[in-house]
Amino acid sequence: MDAVDVLIVGAGFAGLRALHTFRGMGKRTVVLEASAGIGGVWYHNAYPGARCDVESYDYSYSFSPELEQEWRWSERYATQPEILRYIEHVADRFDLRRDIRLETRMSSAVFDEATDRWTVTASTGQRWTAQHLVLCLGQLSSTKAPAFPGQDQFAGRIIHSGEWPRDKVGFAGERVAIIGTGSSGMQMTPVIAREAAHLTVFQRTPNYSVPAANAPLTEAEDRAVKAHYPERRAAARNSPTGLGFKVNRVSALDVPAEERETAYEAAWDRYGFGFALVYHDILLSKDANDTAADFIRRKIAAKIEKPALREKLVPKDHAFAARRPSVDSGYFEAFNRNNVELADVREAPIVEFTATGIRTLAKAHAFDTIIFATGFDAFTGSLLKPEIVGRGGITLKRKWAAGPVSQLGVAVAGFPNMHIVAGPGSPSLLSNVMVSIEEQIDWFARLVRTMDERGIGAVEAEAEAERAWVEHVNERARETLYMTADSYYNGAEVAGKPRVFMPYSGGVRGYRRILERCEADGYPGFRLVARDGRAAVRPTAA
Ligand code: NAP
Repeated sequence: MDAVDVLIVGAGFAGLRALHTFRGMGKRTVVLEASAGIGGVWYHNAYPGARCDVESYDYSYSFSPELEQEWRWSERYATQPEILRYIEHVADRFDLRRDIRLETRMSSAVFDEATDRWTVTASTGQRWTAQHLVLCLGQLSSTKAPAFPGQDQFAGRIIHSGEWPRDKVGFAGERVAIIGTGSSGMQMTPVIAREAAHLTVFQRTPNYSVPAANAPLTEAEDRAVKAHYPERRAAARNSPTGLGFKVNRVSALDVPAEERETAYEAAWDRYGFGFALVYHDILLSKDANDTAADFIRRKIAAKIEKPALREKLVPKDHAFAARRPSVDSGYFEAFNRNNVELADVREAPIVEFTATGIRTLAKAHAFDTIIFATGFDAFTGSLLKPEIVGRGGITLKRKWAAGPVSQLGVAVAGFPNMHIVAGPGSPSLLSNVMVSIEEQIDWFARLVRTMDERGIGAVEAEAEAERAWVEHVNERARETLYMTADSYYNGAEVAGKPRVFMPYSGGVRGYRRILERCEADGYPGFRLVARDGRAAVRPTAA
């Protein structure tokens, strides 16, 4: 059994950053990765059309000015292959691979109270002990696929967007089905439509989408960004979403309709997600939201030639951005093609899969390939897959049976020295996750340094602080429209999942201030236990 200081689980963006940071502190560090390659979601979501909907310059590491200057993004929104190349480059440039164990899935982690260390067992049978367990498991890494009657009978291919095969999948001459119209389904639709003989998109809920306005990045743009990268990073960190957009303090309801229309028009086809920030209350007030939603509906409708399709594709049943909207490149326009068909499963539900395709209440469809773009067991799915056993034998599954609870989204009472990156209770999927993971990892690194300096063996969230944080997360969510729609933000994406709001909606800047205040005040809400004597160390202000 190998002994390390820090054991990191997951070799995506967060895991690699954690490895670089902890190893840089002189910690013996190892990363376990279940897959055959590094990259996390960017390794697995290799479907046609996959690209980031955060601008490339912002969806990248900020820890190395040299890396920032060297890397040349080719497009405003990078494609999955380019992002994976970037991740591979980072791994090589910072010599990360030697401490990453691929095809090594953590099956269990058990905390030993006598030594304040975790014992981690992998699918390979290998075991490690570690003082710190850093969970970089991803928020959207546990795929979710419905089980339709007769699914096993289907003679063609079934592929999940989040488990895309490593070999190129071709669709030329094929009849293809896509089930699901979230970001993944919306991104792949126009690309597969161009290649396949026929494409049928099965839609349950029409989704809002804003145009990506993607474009190649010119030399002049690249130079301009690189000349002011620190300022750009600071703007991202100090914006609510981590995307660098300033919030307009004005209410959508306090301006005349024509002025509002002009403002929406100026942001449309330009700012992607930034569209949601044109007015500060778009996500806070239903009336304000209606003004944006109405604008988007008109824009979407204008793209769709057939009136009957327009009626079906335009989102109506939820507020804009209450569920995660998409940032698309030609999704709605794809339905103007002769080889693209919409199957509305609310109108004609899927009855069963057959040997040749899918039978709905309306008709039998024949397919060669069926793609599940049906999403993920978000936030908690991958954290609850391994058996994580804390003090007194309590499992994380039992502790989170009624929904995830944590202190500041980073630690769980009963699970000392377990650090969760971008998990529930933190801005996570409501932010540019790159900003969130880097800030949390730097915070963990300073916490670990403080522990070393003060001779502390274990840090653990206090149950009372955890309750207060969960209440605060809910309080902030109640100020918004997020709970007005069923979504993976609130556990509605998986039947039987506890219906609680999971990410922190107070923004990355506000969240960072809370973490910094906690650190400056000597970690209130955490119990720090000395290595010798088992006495609790009273937190003192730094
Ligand atoms: P998703 O947003 O959860 O969408 C899943 C889709 O599948 C929804 O349209 C859902 O319908 C549908 N669905 C699920 N079960 C179904 C069933 N039994 N029958 C019919 N339809 C069903 O998943 P996703 O598109 O993979 O995206 C997940 C998240 O990943 C995104 O929100 C985003 O955060 C991230 N992502 C990011 C990018 C990017 O950066 N560009 C790209 C892709 C994904 P309902 O809406 O009715 O539930």
